[in-house]
Amino acid sequence: MTLPRLASAFALSLVLALGGCGEEPVRPSAEAIAAAQAEIARTPPRQPRLMPSDEAQAVLRRIDQRIRPAAVKECRARGGDRCAWSVAYEPAATFNAFASGRDRIVMFGGIFALARSEEEIAMVLAHEKAHHILDHVAETNRNAGIGAFVADILVSVGAVWIAQELGLPLPAALVDSLRSAAAGAGAQAGVLAFSIENEKEADALAAAILHASGYDLDAARGMIVTMGSMAKGDRTPNFLRTHPAGPERLAHWETVVSGLRRAQAASPPQLLADAAR
Ligand SMILES: [Zn+2]
Repeated sequence: MTLPRLASAFALSLVLALGGCGEEPVRPSAEAIAAAQAEIARTPPRQPRLMPSDEAQAVLRRIDQRIRPAAVKECRARGGDRCAWSVAYEPAATFNAFASGRDRIVMFGGIFALARSEEEIAMVLAHEKAHHILDHVAETNRNAGIGAFVADILVSVGAVWIAQELGLPLPAALVDSLRSAAAGAGAQAGVLAFSIENEKEADALAAAILHASGYDLDAARGMIVTMGSMAKGDRTPNFLRTHPAGPERLAHWETVVSGLRRAQAASPPQLLADAAR
């Protein structure tokens, strides 16, 4: 291993360690959570803007191509044997996305309607890829003891609201399944959700992937703020709200991003760029 290779391997492992990814969970401070809470409290929920299907699909393809090299690298670094994912666009206005099966990812129209930048959409796609890279789908199914369909509830709330705002038909059958899950019929409906720890790991790895792909993490964080501001009026039962509640999630993101930036400051940029390839 040449010196630059060794240094880049070190830089990458530093990024991964700081990014969490299961080995070293990132714990935001109480001050960071309070600051996140204040920001979310003063951020009004966004009005959805319908993005035409063809435009949304083009944006999704562009993001997928841009983050793929870094995602594949993270996957291979973990010994993944399937580091290619099938990414589909689903026009329903649900504010949600999925990682399911061995390689499937579905991004719903509601994400595109609420996003205000490509970075924000990229954050969601990188998060879903991270669930696959970290083997969360299989882990969740194993824990449940059944081969169920894992739903990634970004904000299951808001789905009906978005559909109404856009004048679209009510969201996909998925939302109904989630509501059945709320009624205690989760296993019967075949819908599971990732654990909060899995969600934090997926956010941390998503940040590392976006960073390595040259996306602006400050722009991407808008999606986390939006999830928090939309969840303010959330009546989803706590046990169903599998994603960390808004302020904790935003504070976790901030802590992960500071760690990535410290790692970058400690390493020459070309090494991080090299590490990302
Ligand atoms: Zn998730």
